[in-house]
Amino acid sequence: MTETEIPEDHPRYASLVTRHRIEAGVEQGITSKQGLIAQGRGEAFDYLLGERTLPSADAAARAAAAALLAADHPALSVNGNVAALAPAETVDLAAAVDADLEVNLFNHTDERVRRIADHLRGHGADEVKGLVGDGEIPGLEHARGTVDADGIESADVVVVPLEDGDRAAALDAMGKTEIVIDLNPGSRSPRTADIPIIDNLIRAVPNVTTHARDLADVSPADLRTIVDSFDAEEALTEAEAAIREGEFERSA
Ligand code: ATP
Repeated sequence: MTETEIPEDHPRYASLVTRHRIEAGVEQGITSKQGLIAQGRGEAFDYLLGERTLPSADAAARAAAAALLAADHPALSVNGNVAALAPAETVDLAAAVDADLEVNLFNHTDERVRRIADHLRGHGADEVKGLVGDGEIPGLEHARGTVDADGIESADVVVVPLEDGDRAAALDAMGKTEIVIDLNPGSRSPRTADIPIIDNLIRAVPNVTTHARDLADVSPADLRTIVDSFDAEEALTEAEAAIREGEFERSA
């Protein structure tokens, strides 16, 4: 079945589309097989969250937009799942906040980096970083710590969707403002983040873009106030409570 053949009135439409995109990503050589496992974990948490954007995740998306707009040098890190699930939306966000797009893979191969870069260019990206690898994230082994010196290494604000905990901690140790998109509020990476967005990246990425467009004319001082008034701990607690209390309607 192709994506367009999935009936839109199917009760699990969004989930089926997501699975289809990840499967296609693996077939195209942009998503790793490990990415399939990550997808399965994400889907379970999305189900428990009611497959919706919680008010606390929306507040996080707004704070993220403000942080990106206030940044000197923002960067969006793109892995195989992000590229498969939301390529156009990611390119759109980078344009809205004038951020670098950098391919950065946990399971790195030069071939997959090139394919993802081509895929992003096919969705409108002008420049894609991550192909040079002349920078590093200190404290990580070479393969996991390699980044571009003029990209993630020198960025002051980074968006890392579906990041692994060690790299999230290492980026944090570099003093960057870190925005993590992850459906699991108990995972180490959102717990390390300055701004954890507990939401499906399919919903979160366009939501940050919408907030960025709304905040485009806001002064730097007011952007700073939005960022400073966001409470990461509270956002994580609210997401955990939503899961525990089961305040969701089963869609099937
Ligand atoms: P950590 O090292 O941070 O504890 P982890 O081991 O829990 O990470 P991984 O298996 O490395 O996590 O990656 C999967 C993570 O990505 C899970 O936390 C999962 O919830 C999240 N995830 C998967 N798909 C999505 C998605 N579409 N949107 C947001 N998060 C997702």
